[in-house]
Order: sequence, then C-alpha cells, then structure tokens
Amino acid sequence: MLLSEEETLDRVLESVSRLGTENVSIWEAGNRVLAQEIVATVGLPRFDNSTVDGYAVRARDAVTGSTLAIAGEQAAGPDRGLSLGDGEAIRILTGAPIPKDADAVVMQEDVDRSEKSILVRDGVDRGENIRGRGGDLCEGQTVARIGSLLNAPILAAIASQGLRELPVFKRPRVAVIATGNELRSQGEPLGPGEIYDTNRLLLAQLVEASGATAEVFDIVQDTEEAHLRSFEEARAYDAIAVAGGVSVGTKDLVKPTLQKLGATLDLWRVSIKPGKPFMFGRSGNTLIFGLPGNPVSAFVTFLLFSRPALWKLGGRTAWALPHATARLTEKLINTGDRPHYMRGIYEGGTFRPVGRQESHALYGLSLANALCRVEPDQTIAAESFVDVIPV
Ligand code: AMP
Ligand code: MG
Repeated sequence: MLLSEEETLDRVLESVSRLGTENVSIWEAGNRVLAQEIVATVGLPRFDNSTVDGYAVRARDAVTGSTLAIAGEQAAGPDRGLSLGDGEAIRILTGAPIPKDADAVVMQEDVDRSEKSILVRDGVDRGENIRGRGGDLCEGQTVARIGSLLNAPILAAIASQGLRELPVFKRPRVAVIATGNELRSQGEPLGPGEIYDTNRLLLAQLVEASGATAEVFDIVQDTEEAHLRSFEEARAYDAIAVAGGVSVGTKDLVKPTLQKLGATLDLWRVSIKPGKPFMFGRSGNTLIFGLPGNPVSAFVTFLLFSRPALWKLGGRTAWALPHATARLTEKLINTGDRPHYMRGIYEGGTFRPVGRQESHALYGLSLANALCRVEPDQTIAAESFVDVIPV
C-alpha cells in the first residue's frame, strides 16, 4: 500500500520536535526563527510627535487668518520641555515631540512666516499632523511570536525595542549524501557509464533554503561498507538527506544498511509521481529522508516532505508550501494512478507546462518555477483555473 501525501507529511511531522535555542546578536538574526515572544516595552510612536515640518499650535488658536507668535523651536532629538502659551506657535520638525499644551501642527507650507510670527493660511483641527503615542504599537502588545521567521520588517520592529540579542532556534544541521557507483564529482573526468552527481548540489541548496545548514558528504559507492561508514558519521547530524538507493534494486542499500545501524524506518513509498520511493526514518534524534535518485523525484519529495520537517525542526510554526491560482494555457493530462506534480512556468497568472514531465528530466525542471498537482486519471481543460505551488 502506498501512502497518500497528506498521511506521509503528517507522519513525518509527527516525528519532528523542534531543536533547542541559542542567543544571537540582532545583527546576526536575519532569517533565523524567533524562540521567544517579544512584548513591547517601547511604544511606537514612543511619544506624540509631528508628522511634518511646521508649527505646533493649539487648534483653537490656529484658525485660518490668525497670526501666532513664534515661541521657540523643537527639533527631533531631546525634548526641550517647551510649552505653548495663548496665541503662540512653536517651530517643530518631523519626528519631534509635541510641546506641552499643543494639540495640532500647521504645515509650514500653510503659513506665511515673518521673523517672529506666522500667519496661518489654512487652519487645523485638533490632532492634525500628530502621530499619537502607541498608535502603531502599544506597550504590552506582542511584537513578534515564537516561531516567526525573522525577515527585515519583523527584525526592525524588534529592533525598535532596543534588544541587542535575541533567542533563536538552533539551525538544523543536515548531512547531504548521494549514493551510486555511477556518480562523479564536478571537475572529475567521466568514465563510460558515469554521470555527474547533481543531487548533492540540489539538496544542499534546498536545505539551506529551508533554514538549515547543509554538510555535503562524499559520494557513497553502492557497497554495504561504504553506506555504513557514511551513515555512521551522518548520525551525528540533526537530519540526513540521502538521495539514490532507496528503491528495490539489488544495489539499493540505503534501507538495509540503515536498519543494520538500528535506525527505524517509519514509512516508505508514497503515492505520487515523481517520487514514489520516498522513505522516512529515524536514528536516535536524527531524522532520515531517503529521497529517490532521479533528480526531479528528489526535488519534489524534498519540497513536499523534507522542507516542512526542517522548518518544524528549526522552530517555525508555519510550514505550509505557498499556493497560487493560475489559468492553464493548455490542457494537463494524468493517465497514471498516482497524483502527478507537473512542472511548469507560472507567470502573469497563468501556468504552462514546460520540459519533459519525467522524473529524470533535470533540465526540464530547471526551466520551471512552479508545480501543478494533477489527480490520477484526470484531464484538466485549457483555460481552467488550477492551484499551483510556486517553487
Ligand atoms: P536510484 O534511485 O539510485 O536507483 O537512481 C535512480 C536514477 O537517478 C538513476 O538513473 C541514477 O543514475 C540517477 N541518480 C541517482 N543519484 C543521482 C545523483 N546524485 N545525481 C544525478 N543522478 C542521480
Ligand atoms: Mg543508485
């Protein structure tokens, strides 16, 4: 019995608990995952301040046509503690604290200025051109939640609170392994029947894009001894992504050698195309993703099952893949008995299949920027709207 994608993902995620935490400088926290809720101690704005360059006034004084005496100047910076008397205005600059007793700011474009006074050409209402204390964020309000990916705006919002260090989840360390006697590394000459290994590069990139750190292992020959040696070393990592050798051939040694090392194999074989031989297991605390050797299969199964698991391992609370709706430019047909993740180009609201739709078609994959899932025995007519996964 092949497992469905949902069941596979559920079972993988069930086995994942997030890693521990560490403190890092806020300058090093970009793209890390926050491990503690941050509660505001500094409101935004911290104090009432001016949105424009102009004159702080009392709205009831500053009616159209009034003349107000200039009683001082307040720039952004230390609050000079100025206060406003009747019939007065205080010169004020953007971001400066509003002087005591002022309740509005007249834009400088709306006054005629002489040396000691202004003539208000356009009166103001109370509160005009003032951004109120706490209007964006109040003290006591949550700034960012546990599990948030620290992107630029979130990190900047946290920085507004004055924190120099942040607790973040440890980055998962992933051993990236490729198996196969036919594989050679880039820069080596190819003998007859040999090909360059592309899965380690593919997976290392995907691992790093999943908030984890990739450690690229040497290519593993199709011998039991070579597998055992590699896996023994890889067991020190938080996760292993091993591609190739998870199928049923006599040279497919990943499962038997892992079992020999005492690993548990939680699941094997998923009802998808490409990627049927996907395997998931564990050795102690190490998660093991056994990915098919065919590059497109490795790519699709990594995205569907390994990436969410690495995100969860790394503390993230949101791990769903992105989805979008697109109009098909041509019909899609799946005559097989497994859901087919077809590769295509998602552009301007449309999806167009691209390249060969077979599991070995790495070049075809390289032309695509999205996947579209087609059910078994399903034909989707051109011009239909479909759900796509931008990748
Ligand atoms: P396997 O899963 O080991 O049976 O491999 C399936 C197919 O994927 C075979 O055609 C392999 O040559 C190819 N393959 C396996 N590993 C890699 C790799 N690391 N890079 C490129 N192709 C691979
Ligand atoms: Mg192989």
